[in-house]
Amino acid sequence: MYGQLLSDKTVFTHQDTLRGSITPERAWWDLTYYHLNIEVLPDTKFISGHNTIQYTVLEPANVLQIDLQEPLKITKATQDGKPLQVINDGNAHFITLTEPQRKGASNAIDVYYEGHPKEAIKAPWDGGFSWKKDDNGKHFIATSCQGLGASVWWPCKDHMYDEVDSMDISVTTPKNLMDVSNGRLTDTKTLSDGRKTYTWSVKNPINNYGVNVNIGDYVHFSEVYPGENGDLDMNYYVLKDNLEKAKKQFKDAPKMMKAFEHWFGPYPFYEDGFKLVEVPYLGMEHQSSVTYGNKFKNGYLGRDLSGTGWGLKFDFIIIHEAGHEWFANNITNIDIADMWIHESFTAYSENLFLDYYYGKKASAEYVIGTRKSILNTAPIIGVYDVNNEGSGDMYYKGANMLHTLRQLVEDDEKWRQILRGMNKIFYHQTVNTKQIEDFLSQETGIDLTAFFNQYLRDTRIPTLEYTFENNTLKYHWTHIVSDFDMPIQVTLNGKLQWIYPTAEWKTIPITSKTFEIDSDFYVDHKKI
Ligand SMILES: [Zn+2]
Repeated sequence: MYGQLLSDKTVFTHQDTLRGSITPERAWWDLTYYHLNIEVLPDTKFISGHNTIQYTVLEPANVLQIDLQEPLKITKATQDGKPLQVINDGNAHFITLTEPQRKGASNAIDVYYEGHPKEAIKAPWDGGFSWKKDDNGKHFIATSCQGLGASVWWPCKDHMYDEVDSMDISVTTPKNLMDVSNGRLTDTKTLSDGRKTYTWSVKNPINNYGVNVNIGDYVHFSEVYPGENGDLDMNYYVLKDNLEKAKKQFKDAPKMMKAFEHWFGPYPFYEDGFKLVEVPYLGMEHQSSVTYGNKFKNGYLGRDLSGTGWGLKFDFIIIHEAGHEWFANNITNIDIADMWIHESFTAYSENLFLDYYYGKKASAEYVIGTRKSILNTAPIIGVYDVNNEGSGDMYYKGANMLHTLRQLVEDDEKWRQILRGMNKIFYHQTVNTKQIEDFLSQETGIDLTAFFNQYLRDTRIPTLEYTFENNTLKYHWTHIVSDFDMPIQVTLNGKLQWIYPTAEWKTIPITSKTFEIDSDFYVDHKKI
């Protein structure tokens, strides 16, 4: 997603640790399959149902942790039909199994639940259920839960590290409404009173917050995109009244696919297809069912975040949220402290979309334009093991960090192959910052340790301090972490050239005092 993150918490509780760490009651079992089966009752804002949770035993144990947030209640948990004891600790629920759990065995539990789920007030930033009506007075409902977690509306192992391998989602709706969830529609049943049950199947690993339910008076159109891995089904679900507008605006979807397959490699979920689904909030990167609420306007609700004009050349929500299919859904952070892996690369993808259609200069102007929203008040990386996101600078400071790194690589084809390689090496995986840092150091051939310490873990911007003295330029880096020695390109003596500043002063002979730092580098400068 994009926008202001609501949490800037510094004190963490026992509940935060239960939610954000790999507890012993999570560690011993590996998720393999979910079948979430729920009924949604919009008139009373009530949901009920159950989740079948299949897992492989990694190490024998007999208590497992399932998360479900209040005010929803687990009504029953069973294994092989036998009821199990559930002990609640706030939003974490510890279920005691009675059958032996043998190493390597594939077992399942069923968790039944119901209640009035938390209502999203400012979706997608707070999350929960959005219970809205369309212009014709029909129910228009959607879930969103990034950060807060999927357990705000369904029982699951609510930690990013363990993605389920596949999933079915069955949703029963009132008559004359349709549910659209992730993956492909594999079954529709009409009950005797007109209610309908839609079953959607996801064949690829999916992160919890990517799972979604969207209910509305939808119409559908589609196209087949000839992609790198063959024919890709692209399906679009919008409210009946918006069909014509959507047919026009969603032309950005195949354009996006073309640009992003070029830069990042094949779309990661061919088996599940790609969808855009209209929702009553701005949008979210739900895997294979990207949700859309950008009012069929270019920019971010009609606004250009870069202030350069380039941001109005595309629909921000289509491009940004679909960019997450590669960075968030394909390559997923293990801990949300490392959420920059999702947002920095995705914010950066906006300028690569522009690069593909409008060239390198346009894309550079865009990403440089977004610097005005950088705060530099807190580090990009958050606190580990307590479900804590880092600063909102993970968007455009992160994008500008990657744009700077592209300059250091100084070979656009190599840079493209690095981005494609990243999506191949970490295909369908959960990763941490260290893995990404090591990969990028190795592939670029540059030791990027200090570079990432500076931009991800420090709030200071490297500042080139310089002065002219006796026909020389004297320069060095200040406001830096130890060992920071990034070279930069400058215009000096009438030509573009690299200089190699460190913390120590250096000098270079000059013929004129015209000196300019290449604006592609996200750094500061100060003449003293
Ligand atoms: Zn995002």
